[in-house]
Order: sequence, then C-alpha cells, then structure tokens
Amino acid sequence: MAVINRIAAFSPEMEAWRHDIHQHPELAYEEHRTAARVAALLREFGVDEVTEGVGGTGVVGVIRNGDGPSIALRADMDALPIEEMAEDRTYKSVHAGKMHACGHDGHTAMLLGAARYLCEARPFRGQVVLVFQPAEEGRAGAKAMIDDGLFTRWPVEAIYGMHNMPGIDAGAFAVAPGPVMAAADRFTITVTGHGGHAAAPHLVRDPIVAGTALVTALQTIASRNTKPTDTLVVSVTQFHAGDTGNVIPDSAWLAGTVRHFDSTVGQATEQRMRAIAAGIAATYNVDVDVQYITGYPPTVNWDGPAALVREAAVDVFGPEQVQVQAPAMFAEDFSYYLQQVPGCYAYIGNGHGGPHGCSGLHNPFYDFNDAILPGGASLFVRVVERALPK
Ligand SMILES: [Zn+2]
Ligand SMILES: [Zn+2]
Repeated sequence: MAVINRIAAFSPEMEAWRHDIHQHPELAYEEHRTAARVAALLREFGVDEVTEGVGGTGVVGVIRNGDGPSIALRADMDALPIEEMAEDRTYKSVHAGKMHACGHDGHTAMLLGAARYLCEARPFRGQVVLVFQPAEEGRAGAKAMIDDGLFTRWPVEAIYGMHNMPGIDAGAFAVAPGPVMAAADRFTITVTGHGGHAAAPHLVRDPIVAGTALVTALQTIASRNTKPTDTLVVSVTQFHAGDTGNVIPDSAWLAGTVRHFDSTVGQATEQRMRAIAAGIAATYNVDVDVQYITGYPPTVNWDGPAALVREAAVDVFGPEQVQVQAPAMFAEDFSYYLQQVPGCYAYIGNGHGGPHGCSGLHNPFYDFNDAILPGGASLFVRVVERALPK
C-alpha cells in the first residue's frame, strides 16, 4: 500500500484528533465543539480561508495554489443517538446516549490529514475546497450547506467523499460509476373506519381487515408495477391497531420505508401507493390517508470522477485491493451534492474486527479503524493531484 510517507509520519496526530472527536460526539446541527476544533486545526495548518457556520454548523476551508479549477473534498461530523457499549475504550463517549457509531469521526480526521498535507506540499494547481458538513444522519446537512450557498460561494467542478465500510478489508477500497446508495422515502398510512363490538362486525367498518389487505396489496408495487430490472423495496414496518380482544377499533396506523436507485421509480411508487389506498378505501368502506415523505435521493456516481477515484485508489491501495463498489440500500446525503455537481462517493474498507463480532455501522460496539486513516488521507491527496494537475 503506497500511503504518502509524510501522512504516515503524522498519523499518530490523526488518531489523536479522531479519538478527541470520538470522545465528544455531537448530534445533527449541534456539532459546535467539533466544528470549532476542525476550524482551529485548519487555521493551524495554514488553510488560506476558513468559514464557519455554513449550513448551520458546517465548516468550509479553501487551499489555493495559483490559478486553476476547483474541486471539493467532503467529510461529515455528526454522531448518532446511540449509547456506546465498549467499556474498555479509552476514548469512549463522555456524552451519555451519543456515539460516533458511523465513523464520521474518522472521516473528519482523514480529511484533516489530507488538508494538512495539501497545505504543506501544495501538490496541485487551483483550489481545494474542504467541506466539513453537519447532520448527515437523517437531517440532510449536505442540503443545508447547498441551500446556504456552498456551490455559489465556492464553485467547484467536482466533489469527492468516502464512507468507511465494515466488512471490506482494511487496506481495500471500493468504487464504481452509477448508483451506489439508495434513496430512502418514508410513508405513514392512517386507515379510519368505525369501531364497535367484535361480535357484531356487520355494524362496524373494520380498519384492521382493510389495513391487512392494504399491506398485502402494497407488495404488488415491487412485484407487478416495477420493471424487474429496476430495484425497489417497499416495507411496511409498523402496524398499530386495537387495544383489547372484543372491540374492533376505529382506526389503524401503518408506516414503512421505500428504497430505490431511481427517482422516477420513487415517484411511480408514491402514485401506485395512493391508487391502491384509494381502491382499498372503496372496497372496505374506510378512509385511507397516505403521507409520503421523500427522503434522501439516490447516490449516483458520475463516470469521470469515479474513474479518477479508481485510478487514485490503485495508486494508494494497489490494483488487487480496489474492488467494484456493490450498490447498497443504505442512504447517504452526499446524493444532494451529486445532483448539483459531478463527483463520486466511494467506500474505504474498515476491516472485519470488533470485540463482539458485530462491528457494523450504527452498532453500539462499532469503532472506526485507526489503521485506515493514512490510506484515506492519501486517497484524498491523490484525487486532488489527478483532478488539479500542476
Ligand atoms: Zn450512519
Ligand atoms: Zn455515515
């Protein structure tokens, strides 16, 4: 693995930054301490321009080296509302019920390492825009930064980022063009009938019979309305109705999630859901109210930037260690950037370790793997060198 020597030399400092951020996790739009630490380090490295408070708690740094194009590199800073369970961890969260369980502490440390090296060596011509965003976990910090003028205040030709991935070897990397992460929409459905005695069903309008028919009918959106080669998940994950054994309730409440890689599939799903709901309402003589909430769009990598990242990854990790990124049904707000500018979102392997054999993302025992910090920082640098050649 051809990690940049200078970055390997200061990797103990990258670990120290990560452990400090890990120990002080902050939830979406509350990343005040983390953002202040990031901004202070960027100034210490000699980043030419540092702006705080972009899109809430976001930080933008700019490193310039002569006239030329601009690209952006992105990290996320927020933690999750999870109680950390690893008792023996010296840098365990000191904030009860909050934890860096998705590795955003590591993403931030990798980008800080890249920033430090880029300031020292300036191995590029043009501008590197460092984007440290808030609120990736469900609160669309990327969109908040875009809405706050990220790309008008700091125009870029492309944007690059990466997520650590448990289950991929440490020292390996995965990248591909096209859709790599799913869109995540949500829905809630209220079925309202007329309750009454369970022994006199002819006098009620039963929301449970209607609701169960609806759950079954919704399965046909993926199996009968969607092209078999398109990807769609429609999962009803909650069904609440009734309190006792001899009463048919007035209403039933359902909720669930929709995942797909193509916004037109998502729009068609909403339309079918509403049509099926109207049909069930007529059939069972109940009211059915559908709330469909569009979430993060699909994350779709651009061809040119994905090819560039692949070349950079081969430089850093070696050809055998660079895999084809398999599409996953997770969602990621990097998708908002990719709707605005070309770019690529790849995976850096986090390894298979973990004290309880369950070190997956969002797990209370999860930890970012410090051993991959130098490789990730080096990858960012090699991307800059290729995108902004001297
Ligand atoms: Zn996450
Ligand atoms: Zn994450």
